[in-house]
Amino acid sequence: MRTFEKSSKLDNVLYDVRGPVVDEAGRMEEEGKEILKLNIGNPYPFGFAAPEEVIREMLDNVQVSQGYSDSRGIGSAREAIAEYAASLGISGVTVNDVYTGNGVSELINLCMQALLNNGDEILIPAPDYPLWTATATLAGGKAVHYICDEEADWYPDVEDIRRKITDRTKAIVIINPNNPTGAVYPREILSQIADLAREHELILFSDEIYDRLVMDDCVHTSIASLAPDVFCVTFSGLSKSHMIAGFRIGWMVLSGPKERARGYIEGLNMLSSMRLCSNVPAQAIVRTALKGAQASGEYVRPGGRVYEQRNYIYKALTDIPGITAVKPRAAFYIFPKIDTKRFHIRDDEQFALDFLHEKQVLLVPGKGFNWQEPDHFRVVYLPEISQLEQAARSLGDFLATYRQKWEA
Ligand code: PLP
Repeated sequence: MRTFEKSSKLDNVLYDVRGPVVDEAGRMEEEGKEILKLNIGNPYPFGFAAPEEVIREMLDNVQVSQGYSDSRGIGSAREAIAEYAASLGISGVTVNDVYTGNGVSELINLCMQALLNNGDEILIPAPDYPLWTATATLAGGKAVHYICDEEADWYPDVEDIRRKITDRTKAIVIINPNNPTGAVYPREILSQIADLAREHELILFSDEIYDRLVMDDCVHTSIASLAPDVFCVTFSGLSKSHMIAGFRIGWMVLSGPKERARGYIEGLNMLSSMRLCSNVPAQAIVRTALKGAQASGEYVRPGGRVYEQRNYIYKALTDIPGITAVKPRAAFYIFPKIDTKRFHIRDDEQFALDFLHEKQVLLVPGKGFNWQEPDHFRVVYLPEISQLEQAARSLGDFLATYRQKWEA
């Protein structure tokens, strides 16, 4: 009998919110087990909420948001986003250069589909937010991973980027602030990456969805503000800064020499029209959200939940023998290193599965972020400290005796 399989286009696609460890956690939940989930950056279930005025704005606008909008979005949202881009120092952005999306996710996919012919190369960080690699691969492109260096606070290794540029390379992706490492890139590194893009005539894609979730004295810089002469696409949205991931609203802005990207922009417009438009009630809140109180502002200051939880998890994890980590400076993720020799770890997915089975805590192995060595995992530190405490204690107890068993 005929069976229906997934497209082979999906064969090499890897994703952090799917996969064997997450599927196994789902199966265990169906059996009635309670799982502590530290695998997804979704603030609302952990008690983070949008500013009241943003919710009110959405409710007030539902009546008038029943129709499709312009495929790029309603005027008021795009004007507010263009002004926001100007406030970040990105010059020359008009409303026509702004596209809203059902989250940044939709726009990343759209950008990859519009750009890549089969075999075209795109430089993507390792570790990455895996949607970038997945969408580039689905579009027929080849994701070439450049290293972010843990020894250098997880900053991109600019020499590695340079070495990996070929005549098929079309673009460089940066994720700043970074998921999964929590790094915030300094201006010098961004300038060096911009120089490479300029020299080799590459597009810069900068995913800045965590730009307002920066801690300590770190300053976030948009790479596009340093490179007005390079064609850049800068992404952001409200999922994280306003803790409203479920409303599905993100955007991208084009900057730099747009006349040189005319053909590409035609492709973007075509794909943007094909999805008709993004969720209109969510577009209606963008102006208020960008002008008003930022939920994230309070969270990332000393005393704020994200800040305090970051401090807690960093100390609790690095106190466990065999675990080290770079302190994250932004977002709500930490990407610790595990001593593979000490625990005989050859397979990070197996480690995450073993930990899940024994302690009912869900972590994502480094592999889920296109990290090639079996020596990292990601923790989402959105849960309250009491839950983080439980997770860290469980990990410490588990590792006290864990030695990975290998198949003969
Ligand atoms: N980019 C990065 C780096 C992310 O971590 C995420 C979500 O976790 C996204 C994009 C997608 O965000 P959105 O909710 O806007 O689709």
